[in-house]
Amino acid sequence: MPSFACGFKIIIAGGGIAGLTLAIALEKFNIDYVLLEAYKEIAPPVGASIGLFPNGLLLLDQLGLYEAIRDLVPRDYYGLSHGYPMLFFDRQWLLQLLYDHIQHKDRVLLQKQVLNIESGPSGVIVKTKDGSTYHGDMIVGADGIHSAVRNEMFRIVAERQPDYLQPLEQETVPAYYQCNFGIAKDVAGWEKGANVFTTGYGRSFLVASGPGNRVFWFLFVKLPETKYGKEIPKYTKEDEAAFIKEHATAQITEDITLGDVYAKRISSTLTPLHEVVFKKWFFQRIVLLGDSVHKPNPLSGQGGNGAIETVAELVNALLAKQRSRAQGLENLSTEDIVSVFQQVQDARHKRAEYLVSEVHTQQALLANEKPWLSTILLRVLGPLGGDKNTFSSVGERLVGTSYLHNLPVPRRPRLIPYDFELPEKPVASTRAKWTRAAFVAGMGLVIWSTGKAFRLPIDEVGDWGGIGPMTVNLLGQNRANEFLKVVTSVITYPLLDANLETRTQLVYFLSQLISPILMYTIEGYRAGNAGTPLALPMLFNAGMQVQGIGRIAPLHALLSAVFGFEGSGGRFVKPEVAKALIPALSLGYILPTVMMFIPTKNTHSWQTWAALWQFAPPLVTALTGIISSVLGRRQRRAKIAASKGTKEETEDALLMERYEEKDTPILQSVYDYAFYVQALAHIGTFAYAYAHPEISPMKLLFGVPNIFKKDWALGSLPSKLSVFFKFDMIYALTGIVSHNLYAIWDLRRSGYITTPRAVKAAMGVLVGQFVVGSGATWAGLWRWRESVLSGAVIRA
Ligand SMILES: Cc1cc2nc3c(=O)[nH]c(=O)nc-3n(C[C@H](O)[C@H](O)[C@H](O)COP(=O)(O)OP(=O)(O)OC[C@H]3O[C@@H](n4cnc5c(N)ncnc54)[C@H](O)[C@@H]3O)c2cc1C
Repeated sequence: MPSFACGFKIIIAGGGIAGLTLAIALEKFNIDYVLLEAYKEIAPPVGASIGLFPNGLLLLDQLGLYEAIRDLVPRDYYGLSHGYPMLFFDRQWLLQLLYDHIQHKDRVLLQKQVLNIESGPSGVIVKTKDGSTYHGDMIVGADGIHSAVRNEMFRIVAERQPDYLQPLEQETVPAYYQCNFGIAKDVAGWEKGANVFTTGYGRSFLVASGPGNRVFWFLFVKLPETKYGKEIPKYTKEDEAAFIKEHATAQITEDITLGDVYAKRISSTLTPLHEVVFKKWFFQRIVLLGDSVHKPNPLSGQGGNGAIETVAELVNALLAKQRSRAQGLENLSTEDIVSVFQQVQDARHKRAEYLVSEVHTQQALLANEKPWLSTILLRVLGPLGGDKNTFSSVGERLVGTSYLHNLPVPRRPRLIPYDFELPEKPVASTRAKWTRAAFVAGMGLVIWSTGKAFRLPIDEVGDWGGIGPMTVNLLGQNRANEFLKVVTSVITYPLLDANLETRTQLVYFLSQLISPILMYTIEGYRAGNAGTPLALPMLFNAGMQVQGIGRIAPLHALLSAVFGFEGSGGRFVKPEVAKALIPALSLGYILPTVMMFIPTKNTHSWQTWAALWQFAPPLVTALTGIISSVLGRRQRRAKIAASKGTKEETEDALLMERYEEKDTPILQSVYDYAFYVQALAHIGTFAYAYAHPEISPMKLLFGVPNIFKKDWALGSLPSKLSVFFKFDMIYALTGIVSHNLYAIWDLRRSGYITTPRAVKAAMGVLVGQFVVGSGATWAGLWRWRESVLSGAVIRA
């Protein structure tokens, strides 16, 4: 074998995205290579587009290419979350840009179609169609889905170690869909900047905007039957013409059909879509990467981005090997090389499988393969999930990315860290799903059992605590007012009860409602909960007055597990909302509660305060809305006035607020306020109970009958109501503590905290129930969670 500068040479077959990116990365670390490309041009004008996502862009940024890529595409879409936008442009531009960044152009050889490989104990010999021969230490097959290197690998395996892989695996590669894609320009009626997913029966569209008034379209159509291996057709221009004729009237938007876009085409292609992750990615000195070994349906735009990730892992593994040996990469044995390749496969195989299967499912949903499932997930649950549902699947694809371990990760501001930046590895999604399902089932059971425990003697109430008539007339002479009298009456019994224990219980109970009211309101305003049922705090705060907090607390916990925002990306609350919370809580809840407890000789006025209290929790939500919208409008006007930029730039600046995390310190002072008020009430109640031996703290909280017993034989109305309130409190406590523990698990699950930290936090929640009470514990926990989540945001 001839020796090279560093005594180690890689032969790269294929000058596509994978091959060129690898060449650039190898140059960064002075590793010698030669790139053999079959075609006569490196960036042929074939008219395909490419969508680069944050995972691919992060790696290209590490290689110093990001600014140049940004220059190709003027504006970005959802760049906030992951530090990079999604950029759509002509693939030819990317290939040219990659080639331009190669230092040693002499190492990129065109019209060198690899035909044959010999792999020996000390290197490889590669023969190309033009009769040339190349020697190297290893060969990388970056030569696409019809890879000649993969064919050669299968041939060599069959000769030397037939049981190493499934000999017929290449023949089992399936194609479920075909895709017509192309680039059009100046399509009448197309909204600039729009990106459209259109569902259909057996087909779906992805249409994206690009620079220069371009429209990139992809029509995915399910094949009448799945084709495998060599059966998978290669389409001619005639096939494409017939395809277009058949689908010309397919609607992309209400006003635009495929025919309209096609008429404005610059280019168009019909291709089958292979979907595969091969089981073995290497043999001896041959390794495969990119489409040659893992190829998803392009709907997710992860083929090229995923290829770049595998490049990163190959470079990582090579550099790790280089560092581990005194002579670096020189004279690597086949075993050494195999260990490098194994590391690449270990790092990427599972994720490649995830990317292929995840988009396969998404495609099936969009094309209504099972119409009932698409209806439930896309049309019923999808809209409930709001923005979160649209982007979380995209986000999930991105965060698990690989990166180049030996190059710095540029500090692009981003709300969501990548998994490798987290303190702990996220929990596998299957386990997380099962835990969530168990939690949801548990909370469902709790809600169901409230039906047995809540035995409110509604027919027996309606007066002023059993001592006089109810004269409340807040809503006029109508049924609503009668209903108000009944719900007010319920609370007047413990309020006026001669028994000290009952009154103490009520004071304690109402003080501990501060946290639920506050948290439901805050969660209602989280950016990541927008569009979900959690964004309706009025529902929960009004619901607790009618259904009991004992039912609402587990319900909110359940809905949070299903719809709640995930990670730091959805944490943001507008600062004006955070500022509105203390005044809203004080005026809306604390004031009416205190007033209700102050006895007065004017019974009508006292009753009116008790009736007003019924509106207190929803009033907090309403006041938060009113105060924050006044503050927000004022701030927005000031920002727009101060901004000298265009409207778009001003909008961007307002969005950038999320990076500034201005809401976090304000929210933390709100949590402090809630913590101290409730902790004081908790400690005060127990100190009071301690000083009054006739009050038993255990009975105060837990003296309740068995819910499965039919007849409780409680006798008096006050004792029935007292039991109702105790159950309400016990169920509220169950819902709240479970919610708290689940929130800790959720932080651990997504890798934001380590396991020991999660255990400590969970212990804190349990101990906190006794020391400061449930309300203060929740406020303390949320303060901590806020700092964990906002601490994960990467600022410039
Ligand atoms: C319709 C469509 C849309 C897509 N959209 C996206 C997207 O938005 N984002 C994204 O990330 N991915 C997308 N992809 C996937 C993406 O195009 C591929 O995953 C990516 O191009 C794979 O790169 P590669 O370098 O592995 O292979 P290829 O791009 O196929 O490059 C292989 C190279 O090897 C050369 N070659 C072939 N045989 C030989 C040989 N025997 N000897 C030497 N050279 C050889 C070829 O000429 C070519 O230059 C899309 C794919 C399709 C079909």
